[in-house]
Amino acid sequence: MYCPKCKSENTRVLDTRVAENGKLVKRKRECENCFHKFTTFERIEFPKFFVLKNNWKKEFYNRDKLEDSILKACNKRYIDLDRIEQMIIDLENSWASNKRAISSKRIWKDILEWLKKLDEVAYIRYASVYHNFINKNDFLEFISWTKDNKENVE
Ligand SMILES: [Zn+2]
Repeated sequence: MYCPKCKSENTRVLDTRVAENGKLVKRKRECENCFHKFTTFERIEFPKFFVLKNNWKKEFYNRDKLEDSILKACNKRYIDLDRIEQMIIDLENSWASNKRAISSKRIWKDILEWLKKLDEVAYIRYASVYHNFINKNDFLEFISWTKDNKENVE
């Protein structure tokens, strides 16, 4: 990072602020050469890859959309948001390492697998969105089904 005024590379950070849930970092800097003060913004870059939808359409992976659906499933459960954030980062890395587009089903399965270990209610809620559960019986069926099929979630 160099000074926009004198181009010196010797700048120091005066203040660091985090915004947008940690996605944006704002730094106040000062040039050690000419004492010019300026602000820089750092935005986290998410891994870029395609998601293959159920209708065979491809779209760019969207972290906000995924995060939103997970947070909805975790609503009012006592789940540490940092753990969710870390889970998403870990999974994104594994999805992005795949050379081809990743299927939305695989994403859903990975999240589900993880939620299952974390919180049963969030797990069932997340499953319900994908399977379009419409009534209580759908939930009950799914719950009894998962009890019988502990190993594989389909
Ligand atoms: Zn300067």
